[in-house]
Amino acid sequence: MSNPSPLIAAIEAGGTKFVCAVGTGPDDLRDIARIPTTTPGETLAEVDRYLSMAQSKHGPFAAIGVGSFGPVDLDKASKTYGCITTTPKPGWQSVGVVNRLQSRYQVPVAFDTDVNAAVLGESLWGAGKNTDPLVYITVGTGVGGGVLVHGQLLHGILHPEIGHLMVPAPQHSKAVHDICHCPFHKNCVEGYVSGAALAARWGVRADTFSNDHPAWQETAKVMAHALANITLTLCPRRIILGGGVMQQPHILPLIRKSLAKVLNGYFKVPEMDQSLDHFIVPPGLNGHSGILGALALGDRALKKSMLGETC
Ligand code: ADP
Ligand code: ZN
Repeated sequence: MSNPSPLIAAIEAGGTKFVCAVGTGPDDLRDIARIPTTTPGETLAEVDRYLSMAQSKHGPFAAIGVGSFGPVDLDKASKTYGCITTTPKPGWQSVGVVNRLQSRYQVPVAFDTDVNAAVLGESLWGAGKNTDPLVYITVGTGVGGGVLVHGQLLHGILHPEIGHLMVPAPQHSKAVHDICHCPFHKNCVEGYVSGAALAARWGVRADTFSNDHPAWQETAKVMAHALANITLTLCPRRIILGGGVMQQPHILPLIRKSLAKVLNGYFKVPEMDQSLDHFIVPPGLNGHSGILGALALGDRALKKSMLGETC
């Protein structure tokens, strides 16, 4: 008989909430809880409380996986490895997540961005199975993206920062406050189409826009330019679009149409058929891409540590 899969603790650290869970995979998520993101002291103490409770209820976990909002330091040679770094979120700059968990639980701790976790989860169990390279983009309060290439999550001088890809400014916009809302850039995708930017540009929240609101055509065009650049650079086999703003059923078809126009027939490959239905897709894990990806990160860290590698 084979050994049962080891129990993993997973944390999806978000700007509005932390999702914590324990389990062994998508069919065995034994416990899941949501903790509001307030101050680091308060939130991380709640996470500790949850993990202690989960441990006494379900038994010890063999590893912990964390997918975090960023930017984060993923360079293992750096003194600030495992920290959230320059986030504008008050109080969260330079907060160390990994050390705290490692010293408390004495198990391997994996750390990556929330969106890299999500792309990993989707590649294993969701809309990106056997599809590599794979990109996952969330359009929520902000815009972020994770990238998986040859089975590995992409890191470099930092991690991918897809939300800040430069795009052409919307032409003849009817937005009430027609500027890019990124504090760093004049023309980036997050500054135009994140949930926060849409609310600021159009004066009302995106979830209240009617289906024929002009913001949707504009959002589709901005997204299409970002997706064209990603496609031309990384040649992904699929791009998954998640996050609150992408919940609108009509937005994906608009984005596909706009992307086809921007690429103008350049890619003649089976993955990119006329409709782009299989190229631009919604997530397959029903809101659990990030937390399941964090679980997979923990599992990978455990396997590495068993091989004697550092996680
Ligand atoms: P977060 O990015 O904070 O993790 P979400 O991915 O849920 O959370 O994104 C929240 C943003 O998405 C908000 O700006 C909200 O207005 C927007 N949003 C949520 N639901 C919808 C919807 N059905 N249509 C359009 N926008 C939405
Ligand atoms: Zn920007």
